[in-house]
Amino acid sequence: MLMDPKDPYPKHYANPPKPDNSKMEAELGHENCLAWAARNETGILSPYRFDRRSVGEDDISLKIKYCGVCFADVVWTRNKHGDSMYPLVPGHEIVGVVTATGSNVKGFKVGDHVGVGTYVNSCRNCEYCDDFIEVFCSKGATLTFNGIDSDGTVTKGGYSNFIVVHERYCYKIPDGYPLDKAAPLLCAGITVYSPMMRHRMNQPGKSLGVIGLGGLGHMAVKFGKAFGLKVTVFSTSESKKEEALNLLRADNFVISSDKQQMMSLTKSLDYIIDTASGDHPFDPYMSLLKIGGVLVLVGFPSEVRLLPISLNMGAKSISGSMTGGTKETQEMLNFCATNQVYPEIEVINIHYINEALERLIKRDVKYRFVIDIANSLN
Ligand SMILES: [Zn+2]
Ligand SMILES: [Zn+2]
Repeated sequence: MLMDPKDPYPKHYANPPKPDNSKMEAELGHENCLAWAARNETGILSPYRFDRRSVGEDDISLKIKYCGVCFADVVWTRNKHGDSMYPLVPGHEIVGVVTATGSNVKGFKVGDHVGVGTYVNSCRNCEYCDDFIEVFCSKGATLTFNGIDSDGTVTKGGYSNFIVVHERYCYKIPDGYPLDKAAPLLCAGITVYSPMMRHRMNQPGKSLGVIGLGGLGHMAVKFGKAFGLKVTVFSTSESKKEEALNLLRADNFVISSDKQQMMSLTKSLDYIIDTASGDHPFDPYMSLLKIGGVLVLVGFPSEVRLLPISLNMGAKSISGSMTGGTKETQEMLNFCATNQVYPEIEVINIHYINEALERLIKRDVKYRFVIDIANSLN
């Protein structure tokens, strides 16, 4: 079957063959874990078997039910940072059910609903681990995939049917919270919740701007509304207006290229969460902040460029953030259950993952793909 000529593969992979999965499954070995892996920088995923380590005394093993699809999965399956180790099994928005616990495990029992996020280990012995912000561990947190695990193997993520993780890096999914909707909370959710709490954005009546309305942006809107904020969405595309206002219940929607609309908001916002990873100007947004306002960057544009006056006039700040620690991740999950904050998701079958990643690149997803692992990877 011919591929879409507009597809965004690098030139030398302009016409990648589609894997014949039935043949590949028959050729798989007898290792204990079934997964889908990318084998090279085409990023095309196909079935793959490997051995997970046995359950250590502090570990839990969980049968994976759902895994969210994050842009990080595109970045590393396609070796965009030049450090991908193949075969590469992506996925760091993992939700499942505990099937085994080590002898020291205190927080979990068989049958519990559990989540695993973007990292699965850290030194547990530095100032940042002591403060439960293990993501910033001074020895480096071990990423859930494409990291080096405690047994020396390359970590493999949630596009697989089970995972073994030290209990410290596992989270309780509150009773009754839908497991498929819980998945995006483990990366997209905590990525915006963490800086919102750090900058005390949970003050009802204040004003929040959200730049970009993808997986992260739509969660920022949801948290903003749950905190009682007046939320303005900035987007490049008019097509998102109706959903921003009616589905996500934003208070205001602004096309960022419309200078008049932008001007009308001068000095009106207390906070801005910037989820856009495409390059964009910063000065126009800084001018929308009130005195002392803060813009938090959670996307990855190629550079941050702005006039000093954008910070100095009005004592404003730009701050960065990346996922969050274990303690606040659990708090975020509990907050979502108590306040009925649910991500918007499209549940997909693992066999659709290559198309889903293509659609994610084109930002054609509302608002997070979640793979139904239990029912399609077997
Ligand atoms: Zn992620
Ligand atoms: Zn540490």
